[in-house]
Amino acid sequence: MNILVINAGSSSLKYQLLDPDSGKLLAKGLCERIGIDGKFTYKPQIEGKNALNAVDVAMPTHSEAIQAVLNALVDKDNGVIASMEEIDAVGHRVVHGGESFASSVLLTDDVMKAIEQCNPLAPLHNPANLIGINACTAVLGSKTPQVAVFDTAFHQTMPPVAYTYAIPYEYYENDKIRRYGFHGTSHRFVSQRAAAMLGKPIEELKIITCHLGNGSSIAAVKNGKCVDTTMGLTPLAGLPMGTRAGDMDAGVMEFLMNKYGWDMKEMMNVLNKKSGVLGISGVSSDFRDLDAADEQGNVRAKLAKDVFCYDVKKYIGAYAAAMGGVDAIVFTAGVGENGPALRIAMTDGLEYMGVTHLNEQANAVRGQEIDVSGEGSRVRVLVIPTNEELMIAMDTAEIVKGL
Ligand code: ADP
Repeated sequence: MNILVINAGSSSLKYQLLDPDSGKLLAKGLCERIGIDGKFTYKPQIEGKNALNAVDVAMPTHSEAIQAVLNALVDKDNGVIASMEEIDAVGHRVVHGGESFASSVLLTDDVMKAIEQCNPLAPLHNPANLIGINACTAVLGSKTPQVAVFDTAFHQTMPPVAYTYAIPYEYYENDKIRRYGFHGTSHRFVSQRAAAMLGKPIEELKIITCHLGNGSSIAAVKNGKCVDTTMGLTPLAGLPMGTRAGDMDAGVMEFLMNKYGWDMKEMMNVLNKKSGVLGISGVSSDFRDLDAADEQGNVRAKLAKDVFCYDVKKYIGAYAAAMGGVDAIVFTAGVGENGPALRIAMTDGLEYMGVTHLNEQANAVRGQEIDVSGEGSRVRVLVIPTNEELMIAMDTAEIVKGL
């Protein structure tokens, strides 16, 4: 089975063609600057096929972008499939499903309407996701089934005690203001892989999944269900991130807006784009740059890393408390998978809850699923590369097979 996975943004579109049964990736790439000057990248994963790197392709809208993807996939020299008919279904990443979607769904007119109703909750992302879906329908026609996989869905099992904000309840009732959480596809994927690695049913495990990348979030997964997560109504909450502030006293906003005469747009720009480890360090949002600056003695780069690691550790403790214990802590995404020293810092001092100093040899390994727990650790510490596209393809295949 071949599933085309689409992650559409307002002016970009990431794609992968893969077989969810074998996990084999056939091709992937990126359409950028849609509606501007159109840059197209295509990376076939089959020997002897040539890649295209950011070539100019006219893409006034997402429909031309999808058409360019299909043309590349079926190209007689460098394509990876013989015809469009070999695409069995399309799986779309959709950012916000609100309270309407607790799992992935087949796209229908009614589902499209329900996604549109979630637009106010993710005004930058959901409209773009819908454009991507409509573009696929325009190019592939309605006989190729399409499935929506939501970033928020996995977190819909959170109990009210975890998702309710302590503001007047009418804002939840009238406006659906609550914690939703994001990165759900990744948290679900790695928690399932963790159970497989531990050789135990996920229904018997308490797992803390740390998705640490440019955007970062942590989830508490008890018996296979998310019971709490750090992101909130929007992906600005929780941990400090590359450029996002994470949790903060809301009073800071009033102070800064009054002092500098900012409007809300300017304030949000600071919190989304200029804060996080970039804001603290003044160096970079990228942990590799922070490591380099730290090595040169830059104290703010070190402080940025320390604040980040401290907050991760704090949430690990909080989620162990929320679940009444923890069997495994999982690290994933760019920083989680590639930062051995950060993993040590984030788990250091957790001996009281059964985490011993990590196995340094295992912790130095990269690019594979690995148990990095130290000797005598009651809690397993695992590094698991995330694969959201595979999870989207697996969901899509499961739904389509049932049609
Ligand atoms: P996104 O949220 O954009 O998907 P990623 O999961 O790709 O982000 O994570 C990107 C981040 O991962 C980079 O900003 C960088 O800080 C970090 N990262 C990537 N490679 C390494 C590395 N080798 N060492 C430390 N950090 C890394």
